[in-house]
Amino acid sequence: MKTELIEKILGKKNSTLRRWIINNFLVILIILVGILLASSILIRSYYYNTARSFVSSRMNTVSGLLTRSYNNARENYSTEVKNTVTNWSEKGRIELLATDTKGNTVLTSSGFSPRYDLATRDLYDSLLNENSGSTSFLGRLPSGENIVAVTMKLPKNDAGYGTIRMMSSLENIDRQIDTLILTMIVIAASIMFLVAISGMYFVRSIVVPVRSLGVMAGRYAKGDFSIRIAKKNDDEIGDLCDIINKMAEDLQTSDSIKNEFISSVSHELRTPLTAIKGWAETIEGDPDDTETVKKGMHIITTESERLSQMVEELLDFSRMQGGRFSLVPAKMDILAELGEAVLIYTEKAKKEGKELSYEEPDMLPFIVGDKNRLRQVFINIIDNAVKYTDPAGKIEVEAGLENGQIIITVSDNGVGIAEADLPRIKTKFFKPNHTRRGSGIGLAVADEIVTLHGGTLTVESVLGEGTTVTVRLPIEYL
Ligand code: ADP
Repeated sequence: MKTELIEKILGKKNSTLRRWIINNFLVILIILVGILLASSILIRSYYYNTARSFVSSRMNTVSGLLTRSYNNARENYSTEVKNTVTNWSEKGRIELLATDTKGNTVLTSSGFSPRYDLATRDLYDSLLNENSGSTSFLGRLPSGENIVAVTMKLPKNDAGYGTIRMMSSLENIDRQIDTLILTMIVIAASIMFLVAISGMYFVRSIVVPVRSLGVMAGRYAKGDFSIRIAKKNDDEIGDLCDIINKMAEDLQTSDSIKNEFISSVSHELRTPLTAIKGWAETIEGDPDDTETVKKGMHIITTESERLSQMVEELLDFSRMQGGRFSLVPAKMDILAELGEAVLIYTEKAKKEGKELSYEEPDMLPFIVGDKNRLRQVFINIIDNAVKYTDPAGKIEVEAGLENGQIIITVSDNGVGIAEADLPRIKTKFFKPNHTRRGSGIGLAVADEIVTLHGGTLTVESVLGEGTTVTVRLPIEYL
């Protein structure tokens, strides 16, 4: 029952509270108890020694007087001893008494039979002692009372006095010491109480938020990223809350981007497939209508091409993710690849009523690069420019040399990109504009290819005004 209660207070094994109690609270408790014990021993011995010195000093005074009288008038010595004992002025504090040579008390300053059980060690020590020095005793009587006793052997005398003794109770001193120790215990208990309260508060201030962090993390693990952790303090735990909240936000974003990607890719795949299926069925229904067959076959071919281009893009992307995306570099003419990409889109742009202009420069230096990949970059950005420009829009492609770099810009006066979306435009699956077809990985792939060539791809855009994509490639590459 008791251990159950202790277990309940300590919490589960390895809990922070239990560790704090063992590492902190118990250590402080042990130190305080040690200090209490040591100081109570020191205080007691200090008080007792002071009491013993006081009684000894009184005894020295009395023995000095008696020795003088013994030396001056030996015949009056016994009377002097008797007078000293009976007239003892400090009997309230110290009892003075005389014993015979066997140790029996024969005279007391109070006049009554002595309060104390007198058979303390100092008496025997003194009686057995050859010399006339004083002996002392400090300790507990069988009655339980603490006393200090000092005994001095007397020289032989006609009344047969053996020793003269002083005895004093330590009752008052004990009471003082007890009060002092009790005060110290109260102070120590208050310290422990304060340590416990502040420690509990401190542990709670860590354990409670950590527990709620655990609960939140558990919900994130189950895929629920909608909740956020309330930050209480601006400390390390507060920082951790911020980081976890940021992480949840990113996970939520990437989760929704992933879902959007899946739905947009499915949509992208379905559109050409529907066209292919529809036209195949039409041809099957009337295979002799050459006009329809010709038109249908054309659509089937272009849609299949679009499909395979998309699949290629997805494969590239998955290679990029797996780190298996590599270049086959060779000396190449960048203008040839750019020209080819422009050519692919010239017809398409014309059909859609858009103007695609390209002023080919006379010559640019050869570079070392992967021509297929670079052509893919140009195709991706020109495709975007055409795609995101409305009919009657204009797309300009330019190429040139600047500061030892080849610069290619594709600018359009199309729909543009919102300022808030610009920083994430090159992020995979990011597709702010859902009105046009696309998987949201074209720019991510293009950026990766350009980066692998040691170049940069930048996108500048104003919503509703147009976009300029700039590719910079170093001439010296590899
Ligand atoms: P997508 O296949 O969706 O076009 P991209 O990675 O090529 O994917 O482009 C990402 C997003 O950037 C697009 O969804 C589009 O919103 C925006 N974008 C890219 N190029 C242009 C452009 N020339 N004009 C306007 N928006 C563009």
